[in-house]
Amino acid sequence: SATPATLSAISNGARNGVLFKGGAAMEALSTMDILYSDKTGTLTHGDFQVVDYAADEEIIKEVVYMEQQSSHPIAEAVVKRFKAVSLESVDQTEDIEEVVGSGMRKGNVEVGKPAAFADFEDPMGYMESAIDGNTNIFVGKDGQVAGYFSLADRVREEAVHAVSGFKKEGIVVSLLTGDNEKVAKKVSDEVGISEYAASCMPEDKIRYVNGQQDKGKVVGMIGDGINDAPALANADIGIAMGSGSSVAMESSDVVIVKNNLQKLFYSFKLSQKLNRIII
Ligand code: ADP
Ligand code: MG
Repeated sequence: SATPATLSAISNGARNGVLFKGGAAMEALSTMDILYSDKTGTLTHGDFQVVDYAADEEIIKEVVYMEQQSSHPIAEAVVKRFKAVSLESVDQTEDIEEVVGSGMRKGNVEVGKPAAFADFEDPMGYMESAIDGNTNIFVGKDGQVAGYFSLADRVREEAVHAVSGFKKEGIVVSLLTGDNEKVAKKVSDEVGISEYAASCMPEDKIRYVNGQQDKGKVVGMIGDGINDAPALANADIGIAMGSGSSVAMESSDVVIVKNNLQKLFYSFKLSQKLNRIII
């Protein structure tokens, strides 16, 4: 069981908005060698805005209808943008399927990340038209690209400071995102991260975590989504954003209540102090 010093560090952390599920996580935090971070909702606010789109009205209706069933921040942004659209004409008998980390499907229509449409014909040139450097999702119907939506998100200011703090302490910070290469690079540059991996599926995130562990590294992973949960559970220290999905929080050892990454860095300092006392 936890020592009085550990318990005191945990309660200090809690007063500062970071909840540790046990003494082991508090003691381990400052021994971390590498901190992997998700992007959407973690380094960014996850409040996307649709900045551009092209699709005919029936396609938009199908997409809105599917995205109503998803809790992904992209889905919420699309639903919000087209909330005035009537969905009466949509066939509501078909099943809707969510592919975590990829998108949604209903009958012969699917929406999601660019890579899912690599083999589709694109007579309208939507793939070319979608704005570079934004988060783009495409719609496919019967083997053809039938539209796109371009979305923009904002970096969390505290993330920039926290990443700089961790780097000064010699911790490698690395981004793992399901989003495209251009957005991964842009956000990494804005936040001050030099290593990133784009177009990650949930199992790729686990592979990165396990790969470092196999090299004997202590691995932290921070995320908020259903897609992050398996990697969070695999990491030595899984850290969830308080605004994240409940499965991310259940899979983690640490929860940042108000999503402020600087509070995590404060907890890291508490952990350092604690280990100086123990040693
Ligand atoms: P991140 O790692 O940035 O949190 P995700 O793994 O959640 O990203 O998603 C990766 C990509 O999959 C998104 O950028 C988007 O292109 C696509 N995607 C995931 N869920 C949805 C959805 N509900 N609707 C449309 N696209 C989606
Ligand atoms: Mg996320």
